[in-house]
Amino acid sequence: MNPFFNPICTIESLPTEIAFGISVHVLRLDSLHPVVSGNKWFKLHHYLTEAIAAQKTILTFGGAFSNHIVATASAASNAGLKSIGVIRGEASLTPSPTLIQAKEYGMELFYTSREAYKTKQVPAKVYERYTPEELYVIPEGGYGTNGMEGAKDILLQNDTYNYTHILSAVGTGTTLAGLIAAAGSWQNVIGISVLKNNFSLQQEIDDLLPSDKKGRFILLHDYHVGGYAKRSAELIRFMNDFYSETGIPTDFVYTGKLFFAAVDLLRKNYFEKDAKVLIVHTGGLQGNRSLPKGTLIFGAE
Ligand SMILES: *Cc1c(COP(=O)(O)O)cnc(C)c1O
Repeated sequence: MNPFFNPICTIESLPTEIAFGISVHVLRLDSLHPVVSGNKWFKLHHYLTEAIAAQKTILTFGGAFSNHIVATASAASNAGLKSIGVIRGEASLTPSPTLIQAKEYGMELFYTSREAYKTKQVPAKVYERYTPEELYVIPEGGYGTNGMEGAKDILLQNDTYNYTHILSAVGTGTTLAGLIAAAGSWQNVIGISVLKNNFSLQQEIDDLLPSDKKGRFILLHDYHVGGYAKRSAELIRFMNDFYSETGIPTDFVYTGKLFFAAVDLLRKNYFEKDAKVLIVHTGGLQGNRSLPKGTLIFGAE
């Protein structure tokens, strides 16, 4: 795969009964690429360009079910670069499918304790094998200006001019920052935070934005369903029903909570009758691979 293919995604409308009569479309970033799914491709683009120019080994951070880890492994492999994943937690005798796949893409994995992981330092073990000059470090989740710049293309490379509201799931906020930076002044960008009470997000997003865009977004903190990667029976039921009704697969970490929030807001008349809502399906179904078999009626792939 050419790491710089031009990603034009499909935009589908939601059935009116699900959308409570409002015009709602879904930007299907999940259909981009089976592994470098969705927003991760956009966030990695500029980091990858720099790493290729410098011919360095890419190092990044993530958990055992991280979409970012497997996306980075695949993208680095396509670009002919070596990659290293610093993984939160101890090595397991039964590694997650995500980590097995990352290894298949040639990513070298270094495990680090949950305590040490918090500092996001490159573990000393890595420096036994690599010099700092050989490494190109991508922050966890691709957070940073390069990530934000890449995420702007999500709106700019698709026909999104006419939407009044743009919704996306938020982890680090890098993707939302790109959407805010690319959106027109007539567009309202709304982020659904998937972490519990992550109120520092407001500042972290502002830090990535040019001064005329700072604060020009709304974060909703009511749809985390207990916290990051937490789930409820109601959320799983919603995801299965949503798939039956629309054919759109979601994951319980990010997009399940996003669509759950969107439908809840539609039900509560959050949007004006003439609103044109765009929901960005950010892809990445890796989290679902941690669920017991049979939980979902659709596959993780
Ligand atoms: C990583 C991820 C996000 C979060 O993106 P941020 O830029 O970190 O906010 C949202 N959705 C999916 C599917 C993801 O994999």
